[in-house]
Amino acid sequence: MLLTIKVKLLTNQEHHDILLKTMERFNDACNYISAVAWENQRFGKIGLQKILYYDVRELFGLSAQMTVRAVGKVSESYKIDDRKQHHFRHHGATVYDKRILSPKGADRVSILTLEGRILVPVVYGEFRKLDKKRIRGQADLVYIKNVFYLMLVIDLPDDELMKNPDGTLGVDMGIVNLAVTSDGEVFSGDKCTKSRQKYTTLKKRLQPVKTWNAKKHLKRISGKERRFKKDVNHCIAKQIVKVAKDTHRMIALEDLGGIRKSGHTVSKGLRTSIGKWAFYELGMYIQYKAQMAGVPVSFVDPKYTSQQCSECGFISKGNRKNQSEFVCLECGHSENADVNAAKNISFRVDVNRPIALRSSGLKEESWKGRPTTLVVGS
Ligand SMILES: [Zn+2]
Repeated sequence: MLLTIKVKLLTNQEHHDILLKTMERFNDACNYISAVAWENQRFGKIGLQKILYYDVRELFGLSAQMTVRAVGKVSESYKIDDRKQHHFRHHGATVYDKRILSPKGADRVSILTLEGRILVPVVYGEFRKLDKKRIRGQADLVYIKNVFYLMLVIDLPDDELMKNPDGTLGVDMGIVNLAVTSDGEVFSGDKCTKSRQKYTTLKKRLQPVKTWNAKKHLKRISGKERRFKKDVNHCIAKQIVKVAKDTHRMIALEDLGGIRKSGHTVSKGLRTSIGKWAFYELGMYIQYKAQMAGVPVSFVDPKYTSQQCSECGFISKGNRKNQSEFVCLECGHSENADVNAAKNISFRVDVNRPIALRSSGLKEESWKGRPTTLVVGS
């Protein structure tokens, strides 16, 4: 499985300036290449390289490999759409590959600039222990709010995937209880919610005060809150994956949209809806921690998981007495509502095993060439 991770570069002023200059020059070159490509209506990488290689090197002072990458970036973008001329942003991504970017030790990368290679510290965060040989293909250097990040594609092993799991651990994700398993184990969002409330009150008090200090304080709080939520999600994901691995079971999650399909980017709608974002993040963490542990993950249709009786299959809104209680109007089965939902999620995989396995995204087309993005160290 391919996963794109976002790694922060800890640049000093000197590094920052030369990387930015390199980025600008790279995109200038892309715009030049794009104009020539458009004029000649030639978009193939090899053909463009033949016409432009020496020109670009001389005009923009790019290294041989960087020139090849600039031609590649332009050619790729015309592959998607060649009906109009493409223009590249001044601070659009610089494309790197193994020849011009390499990890050095545990926490630095060597990266080529207009003035030769520089060594820059990076924050791998969660992926610190990852074998750097797993970094694949090209990497984009991006510039967001004055900070440089590398989008690295890593290849997580899936050959050590669990064979013939003994059933499925269903996980229901929610706002009150962040996650509940079909075993009945509850991972409460209590702590998280409380802390959110605390920060919200603080924020309210600070918001009317428009001084520089208050703004700074506000910024610090939202960062803190964000990191806290992230930690909670990491911690829950880790525990759930451990339970599944220890009991030799696969994991089933609801396909809430966005978790499986969003690919590179997270839509703004998803980002701004706190609830959905929390699901998305937790789902992502479960997915990639499971992948690292060789535990298969399956996604099921979320329809009626909360209204269906896990004992007799009867579906009704009326089965749900309130937020936390489930009582079946047909058979009388009563249970915590989230546990009932988690059981349904788990059943849906067991019933449709072959289909579910196919849709697990671990081997089939759903993942092929569509790396998932996790935000690390930001
Ligand atoms: Zn029932």
